[in-house]
Amino acid sequence: MKYDINSYEEFKKAIPIIDKIVENGHDAFFVGGSVRDLLIGRPIGDIDIASSAKPEEIISLFDKVIPIGIDHGTVMVRHKGESYEITTFRTEEDYQDHRHPDKVEFINDVKEDLSRRDFTINAIAMDKNGDLVDPFEGQKAIENKVIKAVGDPLERFEEDPLRMMRAVRFVSQLGYEIEKETYTAIKKQAGWLKKIAVERIAIEFEKMYAGLHVTQAIDCCLHARIHESLPVFQEYPNWLEQSGNFKHPLKSFAEIVAYYCYTFDSFSTGEWAKLWKLSKRTKNDAQALMIALDQYKKMGLRNIVLYSLPEHLTEGFSRLAAMIFDEEFYSLSDRVSAAKLSLPIQKRNELEFQGGDLLALYPDEKPGPWMAEILDKVEEKVVSKELRNDYNEIKEWLIKWNPPGRK
Ligand code: ATP
Ligand code: MG
Repeated sequence: MKYDINSYEEFKKAIPIIDKIVENGHDAFFVGGSVRDLLIGRPIGDIDIASSAKPEEIISLFDKVIPIGIDHGTVMVRHKGESYEITTFRTEEDYQDHRHPDKVEFINDVKEDLSRRDFTINAIAMDKNGDLVDPFEGQKAIENKVIKAVGDPLERFEEDPLRMMRAVRFVSQLGYEIEKETYTAIKKQAGWLKKIAVERIAIEFEKMYAGLHVTQAIDCCLHARIHESLPVFQEYPNWLEQSGNFKHPLKSFAEIVAYYCYTFDSFSTGEWAKLWKLSKRTKNDAQALMIALDQYKKMGLRNIVLYSLPEHLTEGFSRLAAMIFDEEFYSLSDRVSAAKLSLPIQKRNELEFQGGDLLALYPDEKPGPWMAEILDKVEEKVVSKELRNDYNEIKEWLIKWNPPGRK
């Protein structure tokens, strides 16, 4: 089958890159997720290119090149505001550390490059005319909605066990079944996942929860006992089984952590972060979500709950609260957004009365922690609309209150 790729803006924009490589005597194809998603009719993500040109040759052909993984043959080319990964056709042998291939050999044949890829749906190349190179019947797998390893599944999973985790994340994203032999291999060797870096698993795990078919993917994890190789779940295998029905997939690792911490209450966000090697930001976001859920349970949609919740977490909060407290997501999300917008202030620095004003009111005092304590109280009163965000009103209130604790 041939595709009119000019009608797809994402591919059309990248054609000049392919043209330049081809004009210089090399082969170049679109590969990976973008070709798969085009054939399926899903939104097209990053455009990756595979080429017979060596990394140095690509570097010499383009002005803006970033050598992001040159040992493995990958460079990034910037073109008209977009980034494209260009990887030299290669084979991979001997993954002794189960992380990186020990030896990367550059080759000239696109079919051989496709043979090192994980699943047949991901092993299709497309040239700039829209002609496909599909030696492993990837299109047939798309038609049949199956995730099938390229070549012998056991061998491929031994080379890189992460592929087993990738299989279940594709189940979640696409709603496909895992092909029989491939699934048998995963069921047999899911324990190999213990050998690889947890950060690599985390990327696929997060994508799994963001897929529409996450409940189906969780079932696969349970059947194949993948969870026994995952941090946290290996200690609490029942958690995965007792996960709710993710009607609205979770969009970040922070949401995943908050969901399980809130629901099962045995592992702290800090322990999750340590075991999964999550970033500080993810840990802090999970913590903020937990606090908001807890406050929401106790006091409902009060202003203070939303004020303390960072803007980028509001949608995630609505998703989690809807799921945990069995509410309708869209209506909750609308209420949350409206309430957040109608807050008298969004940030502390929007208070009409600031630290300098406090010192002016109490000229005998030295600056110190007492100021923050008083401003916390003012902030709380303003956010809850018990006090108007007005300089004079706040001043009067303070004079009446005459806060203690100043030194
Ligand atoms: P997404 O749309 O989520 O980016 P993707 O299929 O593009 O999905 P990537 O991780 O971006 O996934 O990888 C790009 C391509 O590289 C894949 O389609 C596949 O052909 C190949 N690939 C990636 N990871 C592996 C792996 N661990 N083993 C073999 N091939 C891989
Ligand atoms: Mg990709």
